[in-house]
This record gives sequence, structure tokens and C-alpha cells, in this order.
Amino acid sequence: MRVAEGVEALELTMDFLGGPSAIHPTLVWDERDAILIDTGMPGQLEAIREACRRAGVPLERLTRVILTHQDIDHIGGLPALLGAVGHEVEVLAHALDRPYIEGEKTPIKMDPRRMAERLKGLPAEQRAQVEAVIKNPPHAPVDRTVEDGEVLPYCGGITVIHTPGHTPGHLSLYLQRSRTLVSGDALVSEGGRLLGPRPTVTPDMDEAVRSLAKLAPLDVVTAITYHGGVVDRDVARSLAELAGAG
Ligand SMILES: [Zn+2]
Repeated sequence: MRVAEGVEALELTMDFLGGPSAIHPTLVWDERDAILIDTGMPGQLEAIREACRRAGVPLERLTRVILTHQDIDHIGGLPALLGAVGHEVEVLAHALDRPYIEGEKTPIKMDPRRMAERLKGLPAEQRAQVEAVIKNPPHAPVDRTVEDGEVLPYCGGITVIHTPGHTPGHLSLYLQRSRTLVSGDALVSEGGRLLGPRPTVTPDMDEAVRSLAKLAPLDVVTAITYHGGVVDRDVARSLAELAGAG
């Protein structure tokens, strides 16, 4: 879905735990750069290639990838993507999530005890698929870490906002030119309505709710939530309410 000139909310379908659902990486570009924010699940390279092509930005144009955080549905497509682009792509993430993305530490949501709980009751075939991923989680090098408040000088300016809670190094990104908030999983949405972080997948809810206070002051016209997609009505008011609810 085209959000603004040079901003597209891609739509991919993932089917991992909890049945099929849509996920929404964001593609941001201008004449010089093409930046993908989050990369889908392992095995989604062709779906990403097709989604980029439909947005009018061939995958080969990619210059950078920004990862909002370490979770598998956000970094899973990265290793294959880096291999497919055919030239250097700079990967950016927050320092606190870097060791998980690089495979130095087990991703926090893949903690074996936590996973055993979630695997209970899954059909055998699906269970095997998930177990294979847990045994060998996708990882890729982070070229550069970014910090809260940093403004990346790409595509009209991208403000980095550290929004921990869902993971320690979770980032949200504010696209200055189009006043678009790419929330990652700091927020979700349903039916075009902005909602707070999901408790079941957010290990530190207190911190996640505190993080919302950093988003409320932004002048946001459109939000892209990774789970739930684009929200373009009453965004500023919803953000203020969600932040106030903390
Ligand atoms: Zn997610």
C-alpha cells in the first residue's frame, strides 16, 4: 500500500505460530537510497522481491536495511536478502538487539522453555518446522548500530526512536518527509485502529508502555504497524491516548 511518495507498506503473509497473518515491512526510497525496514520470515525472499517490484523499486536498488528488532518475523528474511541483492547493503539496528541478530545470543523469544510452552498442541508437521527454525535461528551481521534521537540523513530524514519493552533494543522510526511512524511492534493495529503492544509477545510490558510516551509528541499523519498495517485516521489522538493510558 502506498503511504506517501517514496513510502510503501509492503504486505507479506506469514504462517508460523498462531496461523497465517499479514506482516508489513516498510520500503522507503528516493533517487539515492532504497531502505527496507524489517525483512519478513525465513523463506520470504521471493515474496519480498515481488512486493518491492510492485512498489516500483527493484530489489537490486536496496542500499540499506533497518531492523526494528531481533524477532524472527523481522530478521528472518535478511540472510537470503543480503545474498540476493548482489552488492553491499548496510544493515542497521540498535546495539542491545545486535548480539541476538548476529547469532551471538539466542533470540529472547526463542528461549527453549518459552518455546516448549508455545509448541504444545501444534500439529506435528508445523511443530517440526518451528523446531527446525529454533535449532538454527537466522542471523546476519549488523554493520552499524543506531541510537535514540539519531537522525539518519536518508530519504528526507529518518528519526530513530528507541522503544524498548517488546525487546531491549526495539526501534521505531519516524520518516520526517511524510510524517510517517514505522512502529515495528511497539504498537499494533486492527481494522485501522491503533493499539498498544501485545502483552503475550512483550516480555517487559511496563517498559513497552513507557516507550509509547516517546511516540506521542511526534507529528504523525500515518502509522505503519508491522502487525495490522497502515493506520491513517486519528493517529495523533490515538497515540496520545495510548501513551496516557500508561
Ligand atoms: Zn513482529
